[in-house]
Amino acid sequence: MRIVFLGAPGSGKGTQSQRLIERHGIPQISTGDLLRAHVRDGSELGRRAKAVMDAGQLVDDATILGMVRERLAAPDASRGFILDGFPRTIPQAEGLAAMLGEIGQPLDRVVLFEVDNGLLLKRISGRRSCQDCGRVFNVHTAPVPVPPPCSGQCTTPRLVQRPDDSEDTVAKRLAVYEAQTSPLVGFYEARGLLRRVDADASLEQVTERVEAALG
Ligand code: AMP
Repeated sequence: MRIVFLGAPGSGKGTQSQRLIERHGIPQISTGDLLRAHVRDGSELGRRAKAVMDAGQLVDDATILGMVRERLAAPDASRGFILDGFPRTIPQAEGLAAMLGEIGQPLDRVVLFEVDNGLLLKRISGRRSCQDCGRVFNVHTAPVPVPPPCSGQCTTPRLVQRPDDSEDTVAKRLAVYEAQTSPLVGFYEARGLLRRVDADASLEQVTERVEAALG
């Protein structure tokens, strides 16, 4: 299946992607993760993207579309994928449709994760990830077990907050979502692809609702 997960930062797209990829045998493609890997590697693209990301703004469409085109060409994406955090603008959605049109493999579904803003702020401010393996926890909703489950693989699990998860930047990211990404709801609704999921529930319940939306 070729799926897009749409929703504000902190709506649970990444967490649910990770739960669904095993069951469906398809990869999660997160443009945020791809960009953070570039930043870690110190690539040219990473250096350009870092300041934009730290300010809570969007990286330019051409850069994102080039990165996604390359990722979709990898063999593991031929069976389908979950796009997480992409597209984020109408030009990105149009670019994606053109790319998938070229290979005759259009999107099957777009799942919209609906969560109210107060909860988003709480979820994002509590988010912590292991600096070594990237595993994500939440001090409010998914407390970190002691010892952390990754301590077998990671010699010294170090939990860190993403620089763009600070309160100021989160407010900026939510405003950017409203202005630039929320128009995608109408875009995909008009194409008959959109399914809405109330994402204000337990992890298990949201997974069930997403599965139902995909079915
Ligand atoms: P995320 O992990 O999806 O919250 O993304 C973190 C940051 O990476 C965003 O705040 C943007 O600065 C950048 N980013 C990720 N995906 C995109 C995208 N599709 N378009 C533009 N910028 C993006």
